[in-house]
Amino acid sequence: MQSQEEESDGQTATEAMNAEVLATVGHELRSPLTSIKGYTATLLRQERRLSRQERQEFLLAIREASERLEAIVERFLEMSQLETGNLNARPIPVDAARVAQEALLNAQQRTNESLPAHFTFHLRLKDEHGALTSQEPLILADPRLLREVLDNLLDNAINYSPDGGRIDIVIYPVQSSSAGRQYAAQEMVSREERREGQMQTEGEAEQMLDICVCDHGLGIPDEHLERIFERFHRVDTGLTRTVNGLGLGLTICKRIVEMHGGRIWAESCSAGGSAFHVLFPLAEKSEVSDVHEI
Ligand code: ADP
Repeated sequence: MQSQEEESDGQTATEAMNAEVLATVGHELRSPLTSIKGYTATLLRQERRLSRQERQEFLLAIREASERLEAIVERFLEMSQLETGNLNARPIPVDAARVAQEALLNAQQRTNESLPAHFTFHLRLKDEHGALTSQEPLILADPRLLREVLDNLLDNAINYSPDGGRIDIVIYPVQSSSAGRQYAAQEMVSREERREGQMQTEGEAEQMLDICVCDHGLGIPDEHLERIFERFHRVDTGLTRTVNGLGLGLTICKRIVEMHGGRIWAESCSAGGSAFHVLFPLAEKSEVSDVHEI
């Protein structure tokens, strides 16, 4: 049984967390609202004195702040739909490499337009032996939700790489046991080991596709690698305080991936930066007649 002291320690920790969540949410809502109020007030007060170009700039800033508010509201609504089971995935056979390519191109456009840091984006497909391949694997996924997961991971890779750098998506087939222990055929074990059955997998192995998004940014301290998937959890660094965010993106990604029978986890890279692995079930040959075109 919990002692009174432990119970009150637990309560204090929960209260502190709730206070932190409220502060994050309050801050995220307040800063775009402050912009909208400030620019609107100036436009109303100084309308005649402002040049056409200044008016245009103010209106653009108001639009940007409104879009940020809209995105926050959308996040909350999506989170609530996922929690209440009101958002359902419609999985169909999807060409994962094409969705990844689209997401990369989109990320590239966004960074070229708005960020001073220089990023390069690369997509690589590998076969089960780790060799580069051009064969585009099909997975069973809801294409819109898959794209949302990739967009989220790429946004984070960009936001948490203040000096820019290389961002990769590497796609390769893996075996995943039903108990959830996965291994990448090419990178974690040698072919001999697999042949000799030395992997300690439990349950029946399932064919999955690992879509790995890697960056060379800040990296994530080990003690946060699991917690970042919890609602509102953000790693408290100087940079996180300057990057807008609610700490909901990865929670949403996790819910979406798990809805597809997949898994998501994060690793730190030894050379710095982070790698996010997302496993989706590969489509069986019999399911492949109806491939989704983007
Ligand atoms: P948000 O980015 O809105 O804060 P997320 O749920 O997407 O929320 O991410 C939670 C936290 O995980 C981030 O605040 C950040 O601290 C950390 N994080 C996520 N992706 C990365 C990354 N690629 N590199 C470093 N830290 C990351």
